[in-house]
Amino acid sequence: MPLRIQRDIKEVETILNHILNINSPPVARCRLLSSGFGPSHALNIAEDIVGHKECIGCGNCIDICPILAREPHRRDKTAQRTSMALETLVGEDCDQCDSCVLVCPQVDTTIKNYIVNRRMIEVMSRLEQRLGDEDEPELDLFVEEAITQA
Ligand code: SF4
Ligand code: SF4
Repeated sequence: MPLRIQRDIKEVETILNHILNINSPPVARCRLLSSGFGPSHALNIAEDIVGHKECIGCGNCIDICPILAREPHRRDKTAQRTSMALETLVGEDCDQCDSCVLVCPQVDTTIKNYIVNRRMIEVMSRLEQRLGDEDEPELDLFVEEAITQA
C-alpha cells in the first residue's frame, strides 16, 4: 500500500544492506525506510493516514518466516501477528532469508525489487551452504518439503 513514488534505492542502499546483513528480522526496519500508506487505501476511517509506516498487523511476515514454519512451538509465546512479535519469536536466530520483507504490504516495491535482483543469489547460496549441516537437520527437512510441494 505504499505511495506511488517510492523510496529511491540509491538514497538508502548502504543502510538497507546493513539492515539485511544483521541476524535479526529485517521487516520492521525496511518498513520504516519505505514511503508509508498511499492515498488509495480502502480503509473506512476518517483519519488521514497517508505516509504512515506502522505495522498493520497483517501477520504475513509471521506466516512466511521459515524459522516459525520449522519450529511452530515458538508461536506459543504470543498470538500477536506483528513485526514486534516476529522479532520476539525469532530474534538472532533469523535465517536472513528476507522473505518477511518481500511479503510486507508496508514495504516499498523498490526495496523488494532490490532484494530480489541484488540479494537473492547470496541468500540462496548461504542457505545451500547450510544444507547437510548436522546442527540443522530441520533445514534439510524444510527444503525437502518445499521441493516436494513445489
Ligand atoms: S528468517 Fe527470514 S522471514 Fe524469518 S525473520 Fe528472518 S528474514 Fe524474516
Ligand atoms: S507483514 Fe504485516 S505484520 Fe509483518 S511487518 Fe508488515 S504489516 Fe506488520
